[in-house]
Amino acid sequence: MRLTDHVTLVASGAAGFDLTDPLDCHVYLVRGGRHSALVDAGAGRSTQDILRAVRAAGAEPGYLLLTHGHADHAGGAAALAEGLPGLRVLAGDAAVPWIATGDERGLSVDRGKAAGVYPDSYTLPPCPRVEAIGDGAEVDLGGGVVLRAVATPGHADGHLCYHLRTPHHRALFSGDCVFTGGRVSLQNLHDCRVPDYAASLTLLATLDVDALFPGHHEVSLARAGRHLAAARDTVARGLLPRSTT
Ligand SMILES: [Zn+2]
Repeated sequence: MRLTDHVTLVASGAAGFDLTDPLDCHVYLVRGGRHSALVDAGAGRSTQDILRAVRAAGAEPGYLLLTHGHADHAGGAAALAEGLPGLRVLAGDAAVPWIATGDERGLSVDRGKAAGVYPDSYTLPPCPRVEAIGDGAEVDLGGGVVLRAVATPGHADGHLCYHLRTPHHRALFSGDCVFTGGRVSLQNLHDCRVPDYAASLTLLATLDVDALFPGHHEVSLARAGRHLAAARDTVARGLLPRSTT
């Protein structure tokens, strides 16, 4: 599903548009003048569908930029790395050892199974190829299309958003940090941290964005700063925005 001149949605699950496996987050393909990148990987049960969609778009992604390690976002990283041999898999520092080893406790897959979100048969394949990408690091896709990592802890340790700038457009890939309407994802998990979350939301509202591409639910193609401002304004009053899954 083509969203803008540079962004195509290649996977999306039940908390989205039902393009692929129900467990999948939104997976985005970002195309520049020379290179392309995937943002997030889905849960790992739709990898062949993602590869087909990527090839249909004429792309050979050189980067997989993970927003965080939860299984609906990073479970497909190992299989995508296998299907795309040159792929560099990048994630926030704190999540790298968990993703590299498939640590189901670090990434709270154990809690997801106990809650019935993931079936007992689900396993998170380790992705030893993952590398850390630091706050502020940029991935230049050519033609003035650049993605920049923005450290946004709170939903999970090591969470990153990615700010996209193209010659005529700005967008934010926000993972599970912030959704349309300024909603957030607070979960009863070991590394969900409210003060960090509030600081991340305050930071994101300073960014220049036209579009918001979150990890689930609706996308916003224009005037997306209003969603970021709504979250910031709520935490500025000492409250928490409405939480979603
Ligand atoms: Zn998450």
